[in-house]
Amino acid sequence: MDHFILNNGVELPKVGLGVYKFKPEHEDALIWALQNGYRHIDTASFYHNEELIGRAIRKSGVNRADIFLTTKVWSSDLGKRTRQAFETSLRKLQTDYIDLYLIHWPATHYLESWLTLEKLHREGKIRAIGVANFERKHLEDVLTNGTIVPAVNQIQTNPYYQQEEIHAYMQKQGIQHVAWGPFGQGNKQMFSDPVLTEIAQGHGRTTAQVMLRWSLQRDIAVIPKSVNPERLKQNLEVFNFELSREEMNLISTLERNQKGFNDPSNKFMLWMTRFIR
Ligand code: NAD
Repeated sequence: MDHFILNNGVELPKVGLGVYKFKPEHEDALIWALQNGYRHIDTASFYHNEELIGRAIRKSGVNRADIFLTTKVWSSDLGKRTRQAFETSLRKLQTDYIDLYLIHWPATHYLESWLTLEKLHREGKIRAIGVANFERKHLEDVLTNGTIVPAVNQIQTNPYYQQEEIHAYMQKQGIQHVAWGPFGQGNKQMFSDPVLTEIAQGHGRTTAQVMLRWSLQRDIAVIPKSVNPERLKQNLEVFNFELSREEMNLISTLERNQKGFNDPSNKFMLWMTRFIR
């Protein structure tokens, strides 16, 4: 099965394409990805490339209905501006609905925005609503004060930052875990980690494929980013091999709690997101 089923029955492709830092010169890579099997695109208003994504989808010739499109509302648009931000994303993406709309960070007014997302969902404009970078306390707040359980929480997750505790909590609540930065945002040390390298060699795979496979076997969806067709292809070929229980256990020992600067527990970073665009 190449998709997870979200708590409202919507199907989320297990592997998607993260497009942070995709620029107009990467249009061909995007079209290539769509024409070669990618069915989930993860963008955000903050990436300033929604127009590019809309254009590439059109040019790819793939039906909009066959593509799962995720975008996010940025911190400076939380509160009263959320509905307008959503309409702007729709226009830029050249579509009349979004498959998954996320609150990008739990910055000030996220709860007010959550209630707007619930309304947009009820109006049929969003198939599933969720959040990103939410810690347990933020999820609890939404569960207490909202009426819809978030379908997804998209958080930084990789073998050096495994998110075991919140993963277990989300599973219990029926919130699908999606890993951003599944390669530690191109962490060279992780790509050449001796444990991952040995496991990869045993399967005739790359360490990148092992990292993605490890996530999938934990029931975590992934959205790796690449603009290189060879790597794009590799990152999608993670369904025809399986890591053993021993290999999964071995990878779990690699935890280093190695989070980047952009972590929600970094209060300064969280505060700052409201002022950068
Ligand atoms: P990533 O972990 O996907 O790493 C991407 C980098 O890994 C590439 O730039 C490339 O250098 C390398 N790479 C990719 N495939 C490879 C392969 N097969 N072999 C070797 N190297 C390879 O980092 P990311 O882009 O930060 O995260 C993925 C996506 O997650 C983003 O594009 C974005 O869509 C999303 N994201 C979301 C948030 C959020 O706050 N919600 C934050 C960051 C990223």
